[in-house]
Amino acid sequence: MVVSVLIKDKKFKRYISAERLQKRIEELGRQISEDYAGKNPLFIVVLNGAFMFAADLMREIDIPSEVSFIKFTSYQNMHSTGVVDQIIGVEEDLRNRHIVIVEDIIDTGITITEVLAEIKSYQPASVEVAALLIKPQALLRPVAVKYVGFEIEPKFVVGYGLDYDGYGRNLCEILILDEPQKPAETKIWTADQP
Ligand code: 5GP
Ligand code: MG
Repeated sequence: MVVSVLIKDKKFKRYISAERLQKRIEELGRQISEDYAGKNPLFIVVLNGAFMFAADLMREIDIPSEVSFIKFTSYQNMHSTGVVDQIIGVEEDLRNRHIVIVEDIIDTGITITEVLAEIKSYQPASVEVAALLIKPQALLRPVAVKYVGFEIEPKFVVGYGLDYDGYGRNLCEILILDEPQKPAETKIWTADQP
């Protein structure tokens, strides 16, 4: 069994298996299909990270719907820059549409907040977010995410669309940074201590 995977200069370990991802995405797809029956939703996928999640999620949607893609940059290397450049690709007429934004991961929440503001400016009938992963302890602002795949610890993850410096997007499971453990605190006792 492979314990640790090297991507560029960092070691990662297995975190969420392909089977668990698929099972959860099936549930999300079923839930969204029920909630949006008769509403002809438009799924807006945030590239690049959400491409694999979106591909699998869309296969579980069994109601009439449309899919579109947007892109921007906000994350470099392993630290969020907290700056969202211009969002490109919003072409459809969003007015009075039911929108579901499909995101890979919500970390500080800054990116999704800005995407939501941009989408809402087109006056859609409703907007909700479907995120595969969320790091609740890393959130810097409250965000309402209706559909969440997994809540995870605030550590860097790769795989299943998510990259480390461009690599690892093709992996079919989620891996987490395998940081060396801090050495346990050592106490030195001398003979005359109780
Ligand atoms: P936020 O604005 O919420 O801090 O970050 C959102 C974006 O940063 C995500 O859409 C994703 O592209 C990227 N991101 C946040 N956390 C991680 C992570 O652990 N791994 C990777 N690969 N990207 C992340
Ligand atoms: Mg993203």
